Amino acid sequence: MVKEVLKHIGERKRFLLTSHARPDGDAVGSALACGQILRQMGKEAEVVLADGVPRIYQPLPFADRVVQAQKVNGNYEAAIILECDSVQRTRLEGLENRFLINIDHHLSGRPFANVNWIDPKAVATAELVYRLAKEAGVTITPDIATCLYTAVLTDTGSFMFAGTNEHTFSLARELVMAGADPARCARNIYFAHSTAKMRLLGAALSNLHREGPLAWIWITREQMDRYEAKEEDCEGLVNYALSIQDVEVAAFFRELPDGRYRVSLRSKGELNVASVAAQFGGGGHECASGLSLDGPLSVAVARVITQLRLGPPVQ
Ligand code: 5GP
Ligand code: MN
Repeated sequence: MVKEVLKHIGERKRFLLTSHARPDGDAVGSALACGQILRQMGKEAEVVLADGVPRIYQPLPFADRVVQAQKVNGNYEAAIILECDSVQRTRLEGLENRFLINIDHHLSGRPFANVNWIDPKAVATAELVYRLAKEAGVTITPDIATCLYTAVLTDTGSFMFAGTNEHTFSLARELVMAGADPARCARNIYFAHSTAKMRLLGAALSNLHREGPLAWIWITREQMDRYEAKEEDCEGLVNYALSIQDVEVAAFFRELPDGRYRVSLRSKGELNVASVAAQFGGGGHECASGLSLDGPLSVAVARVITQLRLGPPVQ
């Protein structure tokens, strides 16, 4: 597949790169690295993200060049959509009639594009981007290595999630040898929280619910407003509920401005939360998935928790 992707890149000059809305470390790191790789190959590459770059990823090289937009207008010859399982999840308009290349590692990844390179065995989309660079003979600069390492670091939950194996560490080793600084990458992400996020965490944990192997927390619009919190301040709060001993699955509910709820699901590995999310039209990985559903909160919680109680185990 990597050869086919390179063939299509070779035939074109101007590329748009994007990823999913509310981008995570793999989305931002993969897109930034891919942009640098394409430029080294003599291409024009612009990274466009509907939500821009979250605060904690702004120190990444070339993050300041990312264009935040809701609509794509340029005369790009192809769009490379990274770490994203549909055109809709980019939340960008104007992609529909373009030549699309999809590079993804989600279990729920779908072949929605003209060229689809989906490898759920990759720990991060960044791993596929790294393979692309190696295959193209591109030099992994310290800047590229920093973006890819940050993506791997965040998508493996700091090398803690299931799926992390010796291959993950050899990838990390190669990226560090190419110039990624592990301490600096970690500091920018894990020791750079906003005050609003810490206040939200306090509010969420004061509503912690526990039922055997399940734990759940939530944040209301009123709490978001009170702490002047942004969407990205909710990132990772679910992990605090998962961190409890004997909790197998954690859920985090966030009330959206329209009254619907956005839900993050995390599993320690016994239960497949991707298939639970899929029942509500969401998706993701066996151990990390997401979905949206209607409120009110009590109904949303009851529906999701009922499915989690019945949820299918990881195969
Ligand atoms: P998060 O809880 O951080 O929003 O998402 C966790 C994982 O599930 C990520 O890999 C994300 O890409 C995926 N995910 C979250 N929400 C959705 C959704 O609505 N649809 C799909 N297909 N995947 C999602
Ligand atoms: Mn990923």
